[in-house]
Amino acid sequence: MMVAEVSRMASTLQTTCCIVGSGPAGVMLGYLLARKGVHVSVLEKHQDFFRDFRGDTVHPSTLELMYELGILDEFLAVPHQKLKSISGVAGGYSFKVADFTRVPTHCKFVALMPQWDFLNFLSERAREFRGFDLRMQHEATDLLRENGKIVGVVTQTPDGPIQISADLVVACDGRHSTMRNAARLPMTEFGVPIDVLWFRIGRGADDPEQLFGNINYGRALVLINRGNYFQAGLIIRKGSFEEMKAAGMEAFRETIARIAPYLGDRIHELKNWEEIKLLTVKLNRLERWYEPGLLCIGDAAHAMSPAGGVGINLAIQDAVATANLLADPLRERRVTPELLRRVQWRRELPTRMTQAAQANAHKLFAQLFLQTGPLQAPWQLKTAVQIPGITHVIGRAVGIGVRPEHIMGARRSRAYRNAQLAKLAIGLSVAATFGIACRIRSRKEFR
Ligand SMILES: Cc1cc2nc3c(=O)[nH]c(=O)nc-3n(C[C@H](O)[C@H](O)[C@H](O)COP(=O)(O)OP(=O)(O)OC[C@H]3O[C@@H](n4cnc5c(N)ncnc54)[C@H](O)[C@@H]3O)c2cc1C
Repeated sequence: MMVAEVSRMASTLQTTCCIVGSGPAGVMLGYLLARKGVHVSVLEKHQDFFRDFRGDTVHPSTLELMYELGILDEFLAVPHQKLKSISGVAGGYSFKVADFTRVPTHCKFVALMPQWDFLNFLSERAREFRGFDLRMQHEATDLLRENGKIVGVVTQTPDGPIQISADLVVACDGRHSTMRNAARLPMTEFGVPIDVLWFRIGRGADDPEQLFGNINYGRALVLINRGNYFQAGLIIRKGSFEEMKAAGMEAFRETIARIAPYLGDRIHELKNWEEIKLLTVKLNRLERWYEPGLLCIGDAAHAMSPAGGVGINLAIQDAVATANLLADPLRERRVTPELLRRVQWRRELPTRMTQAAQANAHKLFAQLFLQTGPLQAPWQLKTAVQIPGITHVIGRAVGIGVRPEHIMGARRSRAYRNAQLAKLAIGLSVAATFGIACRIRSRKEFR
């Protein structure tokens, strides 16, 4: 955008940190920075949070952050379902994938809560801080630059365009990030063989309580319990939605009924294709997450696939690391590119590891698509789920993730402290064993 064009705009707003996008990353970062006395403007292009395609999973590590912030009890008063484990049925074989009951956090479950409730809750709490300014129907369309540095954003509002100048712009605008594109930051795109069809279907009293994956006939259907209905996600081969539409609605209903026969009596609730939304899945990562005056986090820095349902969690962890590293420098107006580099350094390893796990899950789905007939659960699956403790290990990996972040200076739960002590004890025993082995070896050599 031309500088002259920008300066003709009616109004200008000044803030310390302009956060573009009020998804999980943006609202959490806004909350944490405002809590530390930083003036933040959070921009959201929509007029509310009420959109169905958002993920619904609030993981134990996010619940732990709520505990550290002292808002856990209030949060748990918002209606939700407690997901203590994740199960699946492959062919006729039922198995447990992950168990959260031993994760070293306060809450040993994933809270299933519509994301609009989660975002409403967090933004309401954030409004209690003087520096928090959430602006709905504000769509950032371009970046403002001055002497090679990003100094703000151009924003469309119902009253026309405005400029918002800021010491730092944080792009939290998701996987189609306008800010990332405007900055032309280099990105690596990883191929993804899946897409997801998203729809609602009624839930009966006898249906499964916990999150349920149903795998059969070359498809996987995930059902998220939302009380009286399921939020359903049908995982399909990338690009195959048009073929499915061409085959007709009746064929689609039959597909669902074959994979999850217990939905058979409600399958006619699905009436037309408008009720079924295609969500294109992406997996990518910026090579550099920042440039002077701009930082990208959450899906804007690394689009996550729904595999494992961990994208929200990762976005929130990015927000916590950003606030831990930048709150003081922002307040003191001394944010440098080096500090922005540290945010990337801190969050890149967990992102890489999680995306690698998701890419492996995609490979399994690609194999699944080849088996279009009735599925026989493979022996490898049956053996793997019998390994003692494996469901707890997976529960920990999904529920807590790699290198969990904590609110700087906040209280820690006893479960967390015990886990730290256990780690210390293991470290000391390994060091002691290694020391003893070295001594024995050196004595033998001496003889
Ligand atoms: C089909 C599907 C299902 C998924 N299910 C789950 C799940 O169950 N659990 C899970 O943990 N993860 C899930 N994920 C991943 C998860 O949705 C993302 O990783 C997560 O939402 C990223 O959070 P974010 O805050 O970075 O971005 P987003 O949640 O995408 O939020 C971005 C926000 O920015 C706003 N915005 C965009 N552009 C602008 C602009 N120019 N100006 C102002 N505002 C703007 C958007 O309206 C939005 O509110 C799923 C992903 C897909 C594709």
